[in-house]
Amino acid sequence: MAYTNSSMVVYKKLSPNHSGQRTHSIDRITPHCVVGQCTAEGLGEWFEKKSTQASSNYGIDRDGRVALYVEEKNRSWCSSSNSNDQRAITIECASDTTEPYAFRDVVYQTLIKLCIDICKRNGKNKLIWFGDKDKTLNYPPKSGEMILTVHRWFANKSCPGNWMYARMGDLAEKVTKALQGSSDSGGGSTAKGTQASVLKNLSEADVIKKVGALFTANQKKSGILASVSLAQFILESGYGKSELAQNANNIFGMKCSLSGNSWSGSSWDGKSKYTKKTQEQNPDGSMVTITADFRKYPCIEDSIADHSAYLLGAKNGSKLRYDGLKGCTDYKKAVQIIKDGGYATSLTYVEKLISIIERWNLTQYDAKDSGGEVIRWYRVRKSWADAKSQKGAYKILKNAKKCADQNLGYKVFDADGKVVYEPKAAEPAVKVPFLVKVSISDLNIRTGPGTNYGRVQFIPIGVYTIMEVRTGQGSSVGWGRLKSGVGWISLDYARKL
Ligand SMILES: [Zn+2]
Repeated sequence: MAYTNSSMVVYKKLSPNHSGQRTHSIDRITPHCVVGQCTAEGLGEWFEKKSTQASSNYGIDRDGRVALYVEEKNRSWCSSSNSNDQRAITIECASDTTEPYAFRDVVYQTLIKLCIDICKRNGKNKLIWFGDKDKTLNYPPKSGEMILTVHRWFANKSCPGNWMYARMGDLAEKVTKALQGSSDSGGGSTAKGTQASVLKNLSEADVIKKVGALFTANQKKSGILASVSLAQFILESGYGKSELAQNANNIFGMKCSLSGNSWSGSSWDGKSKYTKKTQEQNPDGSMVTITADFRKYPCIEDSIADHSAYLLGAKNGSKLRYDGLKGCTDYKKAVQIIKDGGYATSLTYVEKLISIIERWNLTQYDAKDSGGEVIRWYRVRKSWADAKSQKGAYKILKNAKKCADQNLGYKVFDADGKVVYEPKAAEPAVKVPFLVKVSISDLNIRTGPGTNYGRVQFIPIGVYTIMEVRTGQGSSVGWGRLKSGVGWISLDYARKL
């Protein structure tokens, strides 16, 4: 097929930075983020310089204008991968300068149109996003199939940014829909996964609760903190085809619908499990081969367990990649181990996960401690509904009670929100001072309010002024402090005047 260029192009500045004619026919599209809200002209000037040593086939500027920098027939220098760029159309999209490197809506809408145009001119009727590097790179596209790839698979970069990465499935779905006409052809292998019509509109709290319950169950098997897994799921929601996963995706704003998202890339070992060897990046950008036991992931419920299994079992050589995770009961520490192990390159990954955990109080799903005991969290709040009033969450009831005692108006709630302890309202204060008459000769004066305090002497029969009353051992009505300062007497044996 002869190579052509898009008629959507409104600005053209050909870059010298390319390898000449491609050695592979076009069957991939790789969207990138520019990391800047650039103009078509500005990006053109940048790519025009030889010293830039980079280019892309197309650019979409901040106003949604399409630019041509490297003709489709030629291989651009864009994705840090020769084999990818030999077969991919690369598109640089104007974006914000920080994670998630969001695109303006006009840019995203233009990207959809440009991908439709590229597919049509190159004889493709389907754009596919697998969401899995190994599967994608090992997949031989069938006739009519165009495959989406991302720069982050080839270099230590976020590109195309988490904003666009979360929309790759949406992009594939919209482009494929347009290519195949509005009638549902049912030809897509991913049709089973797109069930927008059956989605129930669950609330945020419902989803957290449902997914949280899965984590709690799976966490029993895997031993990883449920709160951390759950936060990762929320942050990365974009995998899984179950109704629950789709609800989570919708609620946490990653996507409107799912298509083509299946985790794969595992291979059956012929006996009992799937195994996976992957190339992953170290935090310093170098590549390592990671091995971990995996199962296949037919649905979100399984992928949660598999994700935990991966984090706990991933090995770099003979060393655990996320060493220290097993049995870790501190979510902040666990998140740091995951980040330090090279799981994510985003500089704010730790903060993001922690803020998700705290925003939705996800530690409530961390049901087990390292010894396997069920941890019952006791929360000290003004009311269960008033989560903001929370003074603390305690594993030990005694400590929670103490906290409630020290904070007027607070109660202790169990994990279900039932009141398990409410400090007694303070007894009405006794009006002091008052006079008492002592009529017995053997009433002790003690150094404090209780028989557990030392004896001073017997108090002589007479009338005394009491300055303060306190409860204490050995007296049913209380101990009274003598005005003289000598000590305390039990008011059981004195008559108030
Ligand atoms: Zn890039």
